[in-house]
Amino acid sequence: MTDKFDLEHIWHPYTSMTQPLPTFKVKRAYGATIELDDGKTLIDGMSSWWCAIHGYNHPELNQAVTDQLQNMSHIMFGGLTHDPAIELGKILLKITPPSLDKIFYADSGSVAVEVALKMAVQFWTAQGQPQKTNFITTRSGYHGDTWNAMSVCDPVTGMHQIFGTSLPNRLFVTAPQTKFHEKWNQEDIAELEEAIQQNHENLAALIIEPIVQGAGGMRFYHPEYLRQAKALCEQYNLLLIFDEIATGFGRTGKLFAWEHAQVEPDIMCIGKGLTGGYMTLSATLTTKHVAETISRGEAGVFMHGPTFMANPLACAVALKSTQLLIEQDWQANIKRIEQQLSQYLTPLSQLDYVADVRVLGAIGVVELTFNVDMKTLQQQFVDRGIWIRPFGKLVYVMPPYVITHQELSDLLEQLVEVVQTMQGAN
Ligand code: PMP
Repeated sequence: MTDKFDLEHIWHPYTSMTQPLPTFKVKRAYGATIELDDGKTLIDGMSSWWCAIHGYNHPELNQAVTDQLQNMSHIMFGGLTHDPAIELGKILLKITPPSLDKIFYADSGSVAVEVALKMAVQFWTAQGQPQKTNFITTRSGYHGDTWNAMSVCDPVTGMHQIFGTSLPNRLFVTAPQTKFHEKWNQEDIAELEEAIQQNHENLAALIIEPIVQGAGGMRFYHPEYLRQAKALCEQYNLLLIFDEIATGFGRTGKLFAWEHAQVEPDIMCIGKGLTGGYMTLSATLTTKHVAETISRGEAGVFMHGPTFMANPLACAVALKSTQLLIEQDWQANIKRIEQQLSQYLTPLSQLDYVADVRVLGAIGVVELTFNVDMKTLQQQFVDRGIWIRPFGKLVYVMPPYVITHQELSDLLEQLVEVVQTMQGAN
């Protein structure tokens, strides 16, 4: 099944070149279906890692790309601009926190995070506080694979511990402990408060994924944590950066996760679902105050400008994808998915090797008491016609929003059976 050339020459995410995991060749994908080279079809439970919110091969998204292609697929953004970037910008400002007013388009989630960190440092330099260059964050976070993004990922679960001391040394506090639906425990904020109190003079910003910590552990925490974190940032002069790259575009049941807490950040990163999973694009948004302060600084400009900035094809499809999302009753749809996820997954918590089952919006997580054997489990899922990619102790799903009731039932029935009959569980 695995392609020989692929196996020998092409690196896949987080894999070995001497002992690569098997890959399944995809011929095409449509709706919530992935069709493999041999004709076998899989129901997609991953949305290609949070991205393909409207499913694959969507006629309107295809059309948006095709239309844009007739005009230009790319044009440099230095000194030139275009409608896709402008129209996308207008819609983004409508749906993100009201205080955000300026948009920087970047290439990927990781780069959006780099941009956010750079903005924070330039902001404080422009304020005459060039010593405020470090960052504080919580454990179990994940912000991407580039150098500075790595430095703010959880040093252990963030997949980058191998880089050790070559990474800038950031300040980490324990991850928020009060779960999303639990009663708030005031103790939860104490460590962050103390760390900020002691280190604020050198801290540019707090960076955090609001409500859902994704790749660092799929944890859902209490909105009060964000409210109090925001107050601390204001009190001690830190910028607040929200990484909404995974949580954005309806995934948690709100359009963006900050809405659960009604806390507005100074800088916000979005990506993934932005283009409906069609191509890579991200954006870092900030307030007028931050942008104007940076612009008044010694440099006079913001020091970043990638080659593919605001790629017109990506902006055009992002515009259409965002319109598609907000023009439909997406809240009801996410509720439908949430209810089905709860109905099927919650009973698994009875198993003694299941540590926790949690559902929020269109995200369902089964946390086991042991690390899964990804290779075996992946094959079992594929044999049963579903696409789920577990990692560590987590078997989780975040299906495309177009998944039908029947498809989601089939997907979850198979998932549940696999978990119930797991080898190695005792
Ligand atoms: N931040 C978060 C919260 C993410 O989940 C990810 C991707 N998993 C990133 C940043 C990095 O995005 P990208 O892979 O597009 O660089």
